[in-house]
Amino acid sequence: MKGYAGKFLRVNLSAGSVTDEPLPLQVAMSFIAGRGFGIKYLYDELSPNIDPLSEQNKLLLVTGLLAGTQAQSCSRWVACTKSPLTGCYARASAGGDFGAWMKFVGYDFILIEGIAQKPVYLHVTADKAELREAAEIWGKGTAGTQEWLEQQHGAMTRTACIGPAAERLVKYAAIVTGRRTASRCGVGTVMGSKKLKAVAITAKRHIQLHDPERFHALARDQLRIMKASSDYEYNKSFGTTEGAITRNVLGVYPVRNYRFGQLNGYERMGPEAFRRMRVADVGCYNCSIRCGKVHVVSDGPYAGARSEGPEYESYWAFSGSIDSTSVEATIAADELCDDFGLDTISTGVTIGLAYELYEKGIITKADTEGLELTYGNHGAMIALIGKIGRREGFGDILAEGSLRAARRIGKGAEAYAMQSKGLELAGYEPRGLKATGFGYATSTIGGSHGNGSLAFQEWGMPVPRVVDRFTEEGKADIVIHNQNGAGLEVGIVCAFAFSCGDWFRRLFPQMLVAATGIEEFADWGYLRKAGERIVNLDRAFNARDGFDRRHDTLPARFQTEPLHTGKAPGEGQIVRSLEKFLDEYYRLRNWTREGIPTREKLEELGLGYVVKDMAPFWRDQDRDGSIG
Ligand code: SF4
Repeated sequence: MKGYAGKFLRVNLSAGSVTDEPLPLQVAMSFIAGRGFGIKYLYDELSPNIDPLSEQNKLLLVTGLLAGTQAQSCSRWVACTKSPLTGCYARASAGGDFGAWMKFVGYDFILIEGIAQKPVYLHVTADKAELREAAEIWGKGTAGTQEWLEQQHGAMTRTACIGPAAERLVKYAAIVTGRRTASRCGVGTVMGSKKLKAVAITAKRHIQLHDPERFHALARDQLRIMKASSDYEYNKSFGTTEGAITRNVLGVYPVRNYRFGQLNGYERMGPEAFRRMRVADVGCYNCSIRCGKVHVVSDGPYAGARSEGPEYESYWAFSGSIDSTSVEATIAADELCDDFGLDTISTGVTIGLAYELYEKGIITKADTEGLELTYGNHGAMIALIGKIGRREGFGDILAEGSLRAARRIGKGAEAYAMQSKGLELAGYEPRGLKATGFGYATSTIGGSHGNGSLAFQEWGMPVPRVVDRFTEEGKADIVIHNQNGAGLEVGIVCAFAFSCGDWFRRLFPQMLVAATGIEEFADWGYLRKAGERIVNLDRAFNARDGFDRRHDTLPARFQTEPLHTGKAPGEGQIVRSLEKFLDEYYRLRNWTREGIPTREKLEELGLGYVVKDMAPFWRDQDRDGSIG
């Protein structure tokens, strides 16, 4: 199996064992790699309704098929598990070098199960994998942990680790590699529950491809096409820091817990503000875009703060949520979250909930240990991040995520939790981007922008067609098209590189063939079918645990309160027809009216073995799934 390592590492922490297992060709053919392998093994090996923090849950760290090759920007990796935040399927995507190193050391993925008796880390080399005591690094931040592991194992070591937040089971803890994170859904929390502090891989660069010459020629073409595109220069120059301007101009930059679509004074947060503090450009393995911009704050209350970023979502989460334009505070917050190992989106949105509850008098200073959560007070936000990371005082409540925290606070707070399926929404306003909002509602991991939810067609992308962002009708096929693009996450292709020219459409299938020799991968129809198979299996995983139409929803705010956008377009927008959208979406997916995959669809996708699991969820009128 050229292109693949052809095996994975099973780590049983309860037994203290590590074993190699072969990757079956049929699994590779059907699920390709990355996210596909994640859901395939989770579905097959997890029983329904298990507790995500119990010994029964499993965590997969999965590399992309093209990781470690000369292909540009294709070495990302994903963490897949059952989420302690949402209770449904979880996938979180990360960059850095770790995905390439997993491939170099000879694995397509690492499957972690059980719970260790005491904190351990996994060290993997080409010769052996072993569990080692982690007493010295348990409690350390992610930066200190990675430094320590490099000292132990040398400069050719790359690490994915957790910080103190995951050790304390903060529900939205991340896995950190370098200064990049697999952040969403509490994948780090699962790792923390298993008492696994880190996975450290020491390896030399080594990849075997089916047709290396052909592959290298395609990679050269890819780079040529990317470099000729305006997006390449744009991403290389600014990273994602320009995003604050465009999103505010469009009126889709959520402010004050998604009440407004434009931040007063947003002009102060443009790329020039960040450029003044930039000290370096960094990137993931074999990516010449190097979108990571390292910033250091030189003066003021956050002097000395340093972060690789913040990228768009993080600086939005630490500015829009609390109505602040302090660039310095976003850098300090980002650094703090990275070191604690916290998901910046969930952290920022949960803090945004607290600020609104404070404004409404639902919570007071007596609840927040004296912190004044008044809009613009970024000092209180920084203090809250520390409290969350340590699960200290009021931070212990916020550490549960917005939905659980709101339920615990009571007094109607739940109405202000901006989440879908329990996952905090991202920095794109659904009332100004309707297909994106419908994508949040139907995403298999909850309210994520990165799981096929962000509809670039609303920004002018012509494939399959450009759509008006305010219109609600006729968007189900667009949402399905984007979600079925799970193929991006088998490669795994970075979303920023994907948009640099048309290399992906022209070259990606050929690259997969040159890497593996599997001719079927040359066919876009085959790859899209694999994407659809992955989404259907995600959906079946959730359905087995009781998720259905009732969970494909958006917070009531978007459906009852008009959006306010200041000078931007979109004033008064509201989401009016979510239910109508769902009818159309399920019909096109060939799912039942309750959103359960039908027999016909599962068999068409080669998932016949899932039919028996879905049958109990088909209602009388659509028992055989025939009505769709
Ligand atoms: S564009 Fe940025 S996130 Fe994407 S692969 Fe390159 S450095 Fe990583």
